Amino acid sequence: LAARDYRPEGTQIRVGEVLIGGEEPVLIAGPCAVESRSQLLETAYAVREAGAHMLRAGAFKPRTSPYSFQGLGWEGLELLAEVRAETGLPVVTEVMAPEEIPLVAEVADVLQIGARNMQNFSLLKAAGRQPKPVLLKRGMSATIEEWLLAAEYIMAYGNFQVILCERGIRTFERMTRNTLDLNAVPVVKRLSHLPVLVDPSHGTGDAAYVIPMARAAIAAGADGLITEVHIRPQEAWSDGRQSLTPEAFARMVREVRAVARAL
Ligand code: PEP
Ligand code: MN
Repeated sequence: LAARDYRPEGTQIRVGEVLIGGEEPVLIAGPCAVESRSQLLETAYAVREAGAHMLRAGAFKPRTSPYSFQGLGWEGLELLAEVRAETGLPVVTEVMAPEEIPLVAEVADVLQIGARNMQNFSLLKAAGRQPKPVLLKRGMSATIEEWLLAAEYIMAYGNFQVILCERGIRTFERMTRNTLDLNAVPVVKRLSHLPVLVDPSHGTGDAAYVIPMARAAIAAGADGLITEVHIRPQEAWSDGRQSLTPEAFARMVREVRAVARAL
């Protein structure tokens, strides 16, 4: 179902006014995690002003350590609902467990399945049985084939609105948090009809490398970007190091649009 032959013309996914997989690159931006009403609202207005089409922010966070901030949970989801209503921005947020899906889907316009859950098959099946689009991140040690088969699970259970997201893979390289595999963009475009986004934030782990890799992702043919932005990155509760300031994000948007126009 995910194979290019199944739908040679490509899949476009509409989220409100936003078209994913269309001509224009889709820009999703926001903090790693919901921290407070003011943090989320200020960031949302700033990214909207800079040209973002959708807001990202996690209420449920899959943290490596159980002692790290786990996200605000349901309280964070309520803040997302408020900020969505106030700004009009559609929302992408992560779900970590099948039983969370019904309530998260009441707020989220797109459900994110994170890298760590890419092969959580009960989660994939549950995401397949509900109608909201799913942003499926590539697992940090997943081959492209395993990633496409994870998308196939969601589709096999009835949901064809799957958006793939390359977010970097684990390699021997230590200078960056992950190795952003931009090869995956043209490979997936050839093998599948599904839209592909790139996450240059988790892909590099360092704000200094996000803009060049964002430009490169669009040049490689990605359908858009999901980027972490924080009003005060040095104070972020998670992933501050890789978060852009609103000013840097505005510059990223200008540069990425220039690349897209040149294609
Ligand atoms: C995130 O988007 O904040 C996140 C946890 O991403 P990933 O699943 O790619 O690590
Ligand atoms: Mn993050």
